[in-house]
Amino acid sequence: MIFTLNFLSQALLEGIAPLTCLKCAEPIPFESHVAGVCSFCVMNWGVFESDMTSITLFRERFYVEWIAVGFRLRESGTSAIIHRCKYGGDPKCIKKLGRWMARRWPSPPSGSVLIPIPIHWKRRLQRGYNQAKLFAEGMAEVWEVEVDSGALLRLKHGKSLTGSSRKGRGEALKKTFGCHHKMMSDQRLVILVDDVLTTGATLRACRDALEKQGQKVVGAVVLAMA
Ligand SMILES: [Zn+2]
Repeated sequence: MIFTLNFLSQALLEGIAPLTCLKCAEPIPFESHVAGVCSFCVMNWGVFESDMTSITLFRERFYVEWIAVGFRLRESGTSAIIHRCKYGGDPKCIKKLGRWMARRWPSPPSGSVLIPIPIHWKRRLQRGYNQAKLFAEGMAEVWEVEVDSGALLRLKHGKSLTGSSRKGRGEALKKTFGCHHKMMSDQRLVILVDDVLTTGATLRACRDALEKQGQKVVGAVVLAMA
């Protein structure tokens, strides 16, 4: 009996017990959900298939050899998912989304390393985690690749860039990112990881910072595309 109770409470903690959808509040059958959202609601996410259409759309914002992208950022639906990942204090959610992503897209080229876009340490302190790092860790579990969250540094704790013009964002981002000295020696195939792709300015700024140190950016993966 004690064993059963322990098992049940463990199951609840692990989030594998029957739960209800975070979007529609309907009960979800075991394991048929994505980070707490039922498969019916996921159908309305505007999920990108791993095909040439998605690759082309992505490359219009950020041109790179290898890509992976999750879903469309929509005001009425998926923006709530991103908001929960960033501010909801639910780090497990974004890791699960990372595993979901990695199961839907082929693995990156062998020998690649996932480098998440860093947040400033002050923001990390407020939030308790970097969502891009957790997202990368979720994917790394499935793809069996390395994550390096110490390579890139966010040097500026600037105001949010949401709403700025493309040119304005680019200018502001130029000196925002830098590299940690320890990674200068060996060249690796870098896959950049971020939660949202808007204009691609952040990814470009990070690629510039890494390439100045002789790193090769071969790919990028984002959870949502605006
Ligand atoms: Zn639902």
